[in-house]
Amino acid sequence: MAGASSEDGPGICPICRSQDDYRVPTFTLWGGMVGHRLINHVYCNQCGTGFNSATGKSNLGRIIAYQAFMFVIFVPIFFILFLLLLNL
Ligand SMILES: [Zn+2]
Repeated sequence: MAGASSEDGPGICPICRSQDDYRVPTFTLWGGMVGHRLINHVYCNQCGTGFNSATGKSNLGRIIAYQAFMFVIFVPIFFILFLLLLNL
């Protein structure tokens, strides 16, 4: 993200600056039950913003990369399974 503040740090919300006041989700729409764990994604208890607890910065780039990665992995798998089903 451009214009990152020098105040960004581990456990600090990038929007409201609350420190160590966040929750770890059990499920996310974009990452299911494991995606957020892979990229330290948490939600601020004060403003609800999702961010990276390890860096205190936005996780948007990582989320997009995660989704792209899952897309590359799973689309061919489903495509192959689909072809197998047609041939059975
Ligand atoms: Zn916040």
